[in-house]
Amino acid sequence: MISRPISQQIYSNLNRVIPGGVNSPVRACANMGQIPMIIDHAYRDTLVDVDGKTYVDYCGSWGALIHGHAHPSILEAVQQRMKKGTSFGITTSIEGELAQEVIKLIDSVEKIRFVSSGTEATMSAVRLARGYTDKEFIVKFNGNYHGHADFFLVQAGSGVLEVSPSASSAGIPADIVKQTLCLPYNDIEACRQIFHHSDYRHKIAAIILEPIAGNMGVIPASQEFMQFLREETLAMGALLIFDEVMTGFRVALKGAQDIYPVEPDLTCFGKIIGGGFPAAAFGGREEIMNLLAPLGSVYQAGTLSGNPIAMEAGLQSLRLIQQPGFYEELQRKTDLLLDPIKETIKKNNWPICIQQAGSMFTLFFCKNRVRNLEDALKANTTIFANFFRKLFDQGIYIPPSQHEAWFISQAHEESNLIKTQSAILTFLEENF
Ligand code: PLP
Repeated sequence: MISRPISQQIYSNLNRVIPGGVNSPVRACANMGQIPMIIDHAYRDTLVDVDGKTYVDYCGSWGALIHGHAHPSILEAVQQRMKKGTSFGITTSIEGELAQEVIKLIDSVEKIRFVSSGTEATMSAVRLARGYTDKEFIVKFNGNYHGHADFFLVQAGSGVLEVSPSASSAGIPADIVKQTLCLPYNDIEACRQIFHHSDYRHKIAAIILEPIAGNMGVIPASQEFMQFLREETLAMGALLIFDEVMTGFRVALKGAQDIYPVEPDLTCFGKIIGGGFPAAAFGGREEIMNLLAPLGSVYQAGTLSGNPIAMEAGLQSLRLIQQPGFYEELQRKTDLLLDPIKETIKKNNWPICIQQAGSMFTLFFCKNRVRNLEDALKANTTIFANFFRKLFDQGIYIPPSQHEAWFISQAHEESNLIKTQSAILTFLEENF
């Protein structure tokens, strides 16, 4: 294991003042058998820690950095904007510019509201759906993660999955948990049973899902499952909410909505929409969105909502993804890394499965295709932890959990992709 004395010292100090030394649990690298990274700075595809060690970054701020670190045009626009003041708690015109950009790109969005985190976006979308339908229950899927609002932590993915495999969190009233129905992803029959049950059929306000799950590793919903959810929500008088915090502007210019032939009623965005700053949003049909205060009776607010610096970064981020060939180039880079690995796995019949949606993917240490959380939990997390450490020691940083997505950015250098490919192949040859 490489020595990181300065990181160790800072981490000890952090632990005295911040619980677990981190401000979000998965950063603790708890199951990876080492202390977390402490970053000094980053550029393009590279992180530099406080010990001066460099790492090719496949986490990209959990998918936010599709343009890589410190992209010059985002930095330049943000610096100019900051000279005008950083926060007013009063409206600025750039909020409208970013709103128009999203509405232009995403057909199902007629109006949008900006918030500061994905958690706020999904939480507010659910409140809006409950206000619109006047119903109480929500449906979510095992292993999907929608942030940490009480009613979502009923069987959450990623961080929670690592901390407490039996799901959930302390501090959540039982009555709130009862209003969330948590169902197996991609399982039409299990869902049908609940949707047609007289206890629930007329009480479901919304079904929320990650159309391509990223928080239990990358698992796309099947086309049939998505079609089924759209038909059932229409029949039940419930809303369909796509949580595209991760997939939005990532898996395609129009996000997962480009990949499935169904339109959601509401969509949640985060990560890329903030260009590396704290911005997120939820949007959808005008008739629904107009129920939000001050027009309607569903309350939702935020001191830093629509913050001009975050809006500027988001606007630049969305302009950059619209440059000709952007997604083709991202795909080319992803294929450059993955194709030879996939071929070698296939040729050797190794029990490894790579699941991918554009430039996000997961290398699962299990043989068969992963369709849901149950399958994902069969992956070998001990091998994953060894894999993580081996790559880390060679200056390659992947998300510190088997049940996360890796991300390729526009800034990934070919030489770094090849270096990563060769490190992965060496590990696999040595361990399978
Ligand atoms: N929804 C999805 C699909 C996410 O991946 C995340 C975070 O990773 C969230 C919601 C929560 O977003 P945030 O961490 O910005 O609150």
